[in-house]
Amino acid sequence: MGIERNEFDLVVVGGGIHGVGVAQAAVAAGFSVLVLEQGTLACATSSRSSKLIHGGLRYLEHGQIDLVRECLRERSLLLKLAPELVRMRRFYIPIYKNSTRNRFTIASGLALYSMLAGGGKDVRFHRLPRRQWDSLDGLNREGLLSVFQYWDAQTDDRALTQAVMASAQGLGAQLQEDAELLQATIASDRIQIRYRSHGEERHCLARAMVNAAGPWVNRVLGRVSPEPVSLAFDMVQGTHLVLDAQLEKGIYYLESPRDARPTFAIPWQEKIAGDSVLLGTTETRYQGDPGEVHPLPEEQAYLLETFSYYFPDRGGENIVSRAFAGLRVLPAGDGGLGAKTRDTVLHIDNDQARTDTPCVLTIYGGKLTAYRATAEKVMALLSSRLPPRRKKGDTRELRLIPVAS
Ligand SMILES: Cc1cc2nc3c(=O)[nH]c(=O)nc-3n(C[C@H](O)[C@H](O)[C@H](O)COP(=O)(O)OP(=O)(O)OC[C@H]3O[C@@H](n4cnc5c(N)ncnc54)[C@H](O)[C@@H]3O)c2cc1C
Repeated sequence: MGIERNEFDLVVVGGGIHGVGVAQAAVAAGFSVLVLEQGTLACATSSRSSKLIHGGLRYLEHGQIDLVRECLRERSLLLKLAPELVRMRRFYIPIYKNSTRNRFTIASGLALYSMLAGGGKDVRFHRLPRRQWDSLDGLNREGLLSVFQYWDAQTDDRALTQAVMASAQGLGAQLQEDAELLQATIASDRIQIRYRSHGEERHCLARAMVNAAGPWVNRVLGRVSPEPVSLAFDMVQGTHLVLDAQLEKGIYYLESPRDARPTFAIPWQEKIAGDSVLLGTTETRYQGDPGEVHPLPEEQAYLLETFSYYFPDRGGENIVSRAFAGLRVLPAGDGGLGAKTRDTVLHIDNDQARTDTPCVLTIYGGKLTAYRATAEKVMALLSSRLPPRRKKGDTRELRLIPVAS
């Protein structure tokens, strides 16, 4: 599909959840927007997440209260804006004799989580009476001391990304898939953008550019001239398995028997295969080309070991129907991967921040759950550098409708 104009207030590079979120926030604020996506919408990280719209219970342990609070606020908004795409689910946390967190730790974490979500009956948690343990999908009972049940939300990340883009397009944003940014040259009043679309080279102009290229962000910055300063980050691979198995009760939040890392076992509907289990995830440092990330045999063995340990009657080698891997963008440096902050960093090169010239803003990291809040922060940073426009909508009110596939 050809684009109708070649000058935009904003060009967004990347059609993952952050790129489409920024496009929606920008067009709602009245700006003209073009999204360039080198593949198809959500072809990278935004279709390879755990598909949870959550505050992230485990981030409480690392003191990331503000992040958890913001994500829970976004969860409650998305439940209203996208009821077909985001749904509350029952989550179960079993606690065993050898679990690293005892029942008091879990109960305090859940109490804080529920408080940060605003309290109320929708976010209540409780300890399951022992007589109900039999109903838990054959969960291993050896050494089992307690089971907690709480609430959190699940989505289809690709479908959510498509719905946000459709909402942006409904207000006039434009999308080019199979469109790779080749070069962006910052001139005195515009950014000259060169990209390849369906094998042809094209050009357009923008007053600002948002680099939402996920694990490719620094590669994109390398194509900007003059080249802005980039931030160092680590790529951490996370693999999921889709299992030919079923869990009926809800989502299980498990500790790996090998190293106590958290693992989710999630009931999941595959398009063709139907009822399945999504099992993940891992944390493996990655240094290669982001386009070539793939599940490793040792990650598969690690995840299957966890599943077979907790669901001994449902495990096995030959239940894996497919596997996929995505890349987290986390702050560079040593230290445990699980403890690294999940905060999103919005970066504008200092030289550009000080002047009135057009700028490139880069999004590092982030959560699927908080995409809307992140997009609004991006627009708050950029709007003073863009011409005044008439507002067309508010992302807190724009309904997200699933796109027919
Ligand atoms: C294993 C794993 C599990 C996760 N689970 C959850 C979860 O349950 N809940 C949650 O809230 N968050 C989760 N996250 C985080 C969440 O998935 C990511 O924060 C989010 O998907 C990142 O989206 P993005 O738009 O920044 O990047 P991406 O989705 O990677 O999008 C970047 C896009 O840019 C495009 N691109 C790159 N270079 C160019 C170029 N030169 N020209 C044009 N296009 C380009 C790529 O093709 C890609 O589509 C998880 C992450 C991982 C890795």
